[in-house]
Amino acid sequence: MIPGVQRHLEESRLSRAASALVGHRVGVHCQTTAGALVDVGNELGYVPYDSDGVPLPRTTLKRDPCKELRRYLKGGRDHPSRDEVVAVHVLTHESMHMRGDTSEASAECKAVQRDRTTATLLGATPKQAYLLAVTYWLTVYPDMPTDYVSAECRPGGALDQHLTSAPWNR
Ligand SMILES: [Zn+2]
Repeated sequence: MIPGVQRHLEESRLSRAASALVGHRVGVHCQTTAGALVDVGNELGYVPYDSDGVPLPRTTLKRDPCKELRRYLKGGRDHPSRDEVVAVHVLTHESMHMRGDTSEASAECKAVQRDRTTATLLGATPKQAYLLAVTYWLTVYPDMPTDYVSAECRPGGALDQHLTSAPWNR
């Protein structure tokens, strides 16, 4: 398949998953080779905000997380690499911004509690999805920069949304 067509199919799949997480139609765009020259910052993805500071319904993911998501979709769901786990989480995290959350710590914690849903939307079995969410929560989240981490992101904490999909629920 020619790369452009493959990217379009991947973007459609990721857009469907993100739209389900956000609750309305949003678009996921993978940076192209040429686009990668234009840096979008240190994050693996970003959501543009309008002049009033309201997040727009679209996100751009950098080339690397898009590559890892492609691997995940192609069958990496049983034993996802750390990079694949992070890439799935980036899609969840940016979706939380598209829902309207502009706080990194809050968006990050909401995403932690929905990674299981994202993995399921990308074709994971319940067990595969649970393991992905737990892996992020236990091995990636603690190492995130301080403005992404909150002591309230825990069972019973202020950021606990009491979702069955939270990684602290079996
Ligand atoms: Zn963010």
